[in-house]
Amino acid sequence: MYPAYPAPTAEALAHYDAMVSFMREEVFPAEAAYETFRHEAAPGDHTVPPVVEELKVKARERGLWNLFLPSESGLTQLEYAPIAELSGWSLELAPEALNCQAPDTGNMELLHLIGTDEQQATWLRPLLDGEIRSAFAMTEPRVASSDATNIETRIVRDGDEYVINGRKWWISGAADPRCKVLIVMGKTDPEAATHRQQSMVIVPTDTAGVDIQRSLPVFGRQDQHGHCVVELTDVRVPVTNILGEEGGGFAAAQARLGPGRIHHVMRALGAGERALAMMVARVQERVAFGKPLADQSAVRERIAESRIELDQARALCHHAAYVVDARGNKEARHLIAAAKVAVPRAVLSVIDRSIQVHGGAGVSDATPLSMLYGWHRAMRLFDGPDEVHLTTLGRAELNRTPLFDLPESIFSQFD
Ligand SMILES: Cc1cc2nc3c(=O)[nH]c(=O)nc-3n(C[C@H](O)[C@H](O)[C@H](O)COP(=O)(O)OP(=O)(O)OC[C@H]3O[C@@H](n4cnc5c(N)ncnc54)[C@H](O)[C@@H]3O)c2cc1C
Repeated sequence: MYPAYPAPTAEALAHYDAMVSFMREEVFPAEAAYETFRHEAAPGDHTVPPVVEELKVKARERGLWNLFLPSESGLTQLEYAPIAELSGWSLELAPEALNCQAPDTGNMELLHLIGTDEQQATWLRPLLDGEIRSAFAMTEPRVASSDATNIETRIVRDGDEYVINGRKWWISGAADPRCKVLIVMGKTDPEAATHRQQSMVIVPTDTAGVDIQRSLPVFGRQDQHGHCVVELTDVRVPVTNILGEEGGGFAAAQARLGPGRIHHVMRALGAGERALAMMVARVQERVAFGKPLADQSAVRERIAESRIELDQARALCHHAAYVVDARGNKEARHLIAAAKVAVPRAVLSVIDRSIQVHGGAGVSDATPLSMLYGWHRAMRLFDGPDEVHLTTLGRAELNRTPLFDLPESIFSQFD
């Protein structure tokens, strides 16, 4: 497929410019208040720093709201990509200010795609309005959850209700006091064909039997919205809470993860750009052995390698976004998988170099680098570990029909 990307619309360009101003005028200046609040909070405290809700109001006033969802924003994924990237420069504040934060975006996409009118009115509307938050509960501590068919949580029909029992972990967002709903993946029919056993059910967090337990740290750091262990014991919800159809959970998970993955990738590029900008600034001001670090050729080389890696990674991300727009999520799945592997790798190596030139400051909390490193290292696991994507990609490549019949192999001369 010859890539010929359409030019962005005037509206998309206006959103991009508005986002640059918003980052400069509101988001970066708000980071100190966010950090101070989080540092002063007790360990394990997941209270929302007030600056988050303040920024949401300001972003919405500037028309920067729900840009991730084409039906709401009118933007294509390719147009959204550079805006999402800007939000990745301030990962803890900007995505949420725009109501474009994980895991809510994936859940909103799912509700938008397959939710009933009633589910959309009850859950999608308040999510789109940024009034509540949500979590997606698939992963389980007892089984290898990178293979979603392993999920053991049971969803058993009893009259007009489903009864849910299971144990989940790494449920992002569940510690946030605004989290009002979980989308739970479990098995409705363990006897069905492998990919028809699972279903998704909407579970309000205040339902009896939902126990949101401790939040797990990422490399020792607690995120505000948390990543929780959740125990579900005889949780009863009406059968109307099924999301999509019974047995359709696996397919729905694939639908959810496609856009969710590429949005993570877009934001990661912004984090990589920030790490590179920090590297460039630091090496020009820091003097060692009689000259600025920037005068060392080894340091220049690291900067150059970082620029190359980020631009390569961005090209892959934008190509995937373009194919999502032109041919849909399913057709783009291999490109999304490739970007999901390549981008965090590139970003991690840039952050790693930036940490190195910052010396001790790089691994402390004096800069955001250690947090960024931890998050993007975790990204190589969540939404599918690298190996799972690589296996899929390898299989697709093995099945690809080559463009040309290859010329006779040189090995034939040894026959
Ligand atoms: C920060 C963070 C946030 C998360 N948020 C959520 C969330 O909101 N909701 C949710 O449900 N889950 C969430 N997760 C869980 C995440 O999606 C899982 O950790 C991931 O899918 C891997 O599952 P697992 O941990 O059970 O690892 P396993 O399935 O046990 O896999 C372990 C390792 O085995 C290897 N492996 C697996 N398959 C293959 C293969 N085919 N070939 C070769 N090697 C392989 C890989 O190295 C893999 O990392 C989150 C995780 C993290 C770290």
